[in-house]
Amino acid sequence: MEMYSKLKKDGFIRQRQDNYFSMRAVSTAGYFTSSQLQTILNVADTYGQGYVHITSRQSVAIPFIHLDNTEKAKRMLNEGGVEVGAYGAYVGAVSACQGNRVCPSGLVDTFELASKIETRYNNRELPNKINVGVAGCPNNCVRVQQNDIGIKGGVVPHWTADKCNYCGACAKVCRAGAITVDSINKSWTIEADKCVNCGRCIKNCRRAAIAGDIGYIIILNGSVTLPIIFNVDEVLNAMDSVIEFFVSNAKHGERFRVVFERDFDINNISAKA
Ligand code: SF4
Ligand code: SF4
Ligand code: SF4
Repeated sequence: MEMYSKLKKDGFIRQRQDNYFSMRAVSTAGYFTSSQLQTILNVADTYGQGYVHITSRQSVAIPFIHLDNTEKAKRMLNEGGVEVGAYGAYVGAVSACQGNRVCPSGLVDTFELASKIETRYNNRELPNKINVGVAGCPNNCVRVQQNDIGIKGGVVPHWTADKCNYCGACAKVCRAGAITVDSINKSWTIEADKCVNCGRCIKNCRRAAIAGDIGYIIILNGSVTLPIIFNVDEVLNAMDSVIEFFVSNAKHGERFRVVFERDFDINNISAKA
């Protein structure tokens, strides 16, 4: 049993076939370089059965590694610059979309944030695993609310009266119905509680009358949304609070969701260091 638990920590999960393991290569935010992918394929060809399985958390599983080859397969992956993902009670590899490096709608750099999260909590043992997802904007293509901790890029719009001609384009594109423009009486209003921080009004104003502060929206357990935070360090501080809450309240082996639903108090979460 001790051997299996060490193998699990090393990224190998036991298969139903005796002495065979599925090995996990992890990405940061879903990125692999072409050379890393080549290494993964080489391992699959050399030690597996020539195929891989893409996991739901943006990792690559290489099945059918024989017990006798686990060390060799791991070495080949590491030498090709691929990280082997530990299975267990950790902050798992962060799932993310491509964010503002690629996506025209992206507001934040998902790769940068995912890398910082992984570095910060690397191999820290927890009562159970915590899943984290990051989306570059409120379109939320990676459905961050399905994670224990979800983070979305968002923007808070600010309007400048001098530049506005009350054309109403911003109100038309706002799917949340948060903006009201009265072109006759020359008034522009926003209902902040309706705004979902998508930034469409900013992009569609031809007079640059709306600017925005870009930030991060944290969603805990898919159910509690924290006020938008405007810098990465404060996002990480808030995550520290969430993780300390989990560590302090979890009974051995409890999942985050169970602890959250029983003990969570938003007053214990702070973005300040
Ligand atoms: S969540 Fe936003 S940034 Fe990410 S892929 Fe979807 S539209 Fe692009
Ligand atoms: S789109 Fe720009 S100019 Fe037109 S009403 Fe909105 S803020 Fe004013
Ligand atoms: S940011 Fe999006 S939701 Fe908020 S007012 Fe602008 S268009 Fe509407």
